[in-house]
Amino acid sequence: MVEKIAKMFYEGLGKGKILGAHCKDCGKWTFPPVSACRECGSRKIQFKKISGEGTVYFYSTSILPPKKFAKYSPYAYGLVVLKEGPSFMTMVEGLNASTPEKIKEGNAKLPMKVKAKVSKKAGMNVVVFKKVK
Ligand SMILES: [Zn+2]
Repeated sequence: MVEKIAKMFYEGLGKGKILGAHCKDCGKWTFPPVSACRECGSRKIQFKKISGEGTVYFYSTSILPPKKFAKYSPYAYGLVVLKEGPSFMTMVEGLNASTPEKIKEGNAKLPMKVKAKVSKKAGMNVVVFKKVK
């Protein structure tokens, strides 16, 4: 089941579709999608496209990026809360994360609206968020 969901998620990304899990019991969303609702534990979930709209509440720079992502460093990495509810840490583009001073300048504008997009990084399709102007 977990592999099937991961496969569906990554195949969706390959087609530019970002899928979340929408619970038929409580109506809440889980993202990234897993086999059960993160809110109520129900397995009655439906995979649907998310709006991609989110808000960043804080971010920092990649001091110790995962090895595969080292070549993209320094990049901004922050807490994104989706319009649908779920929150998670992820890469945020469109910000200057090169120095602590640049991070501070950016933080003055928080919370900040972002939009999801599919990006090819380290040979994989990943979901990144980009600052909305
Ligand atoms: Zn639920």
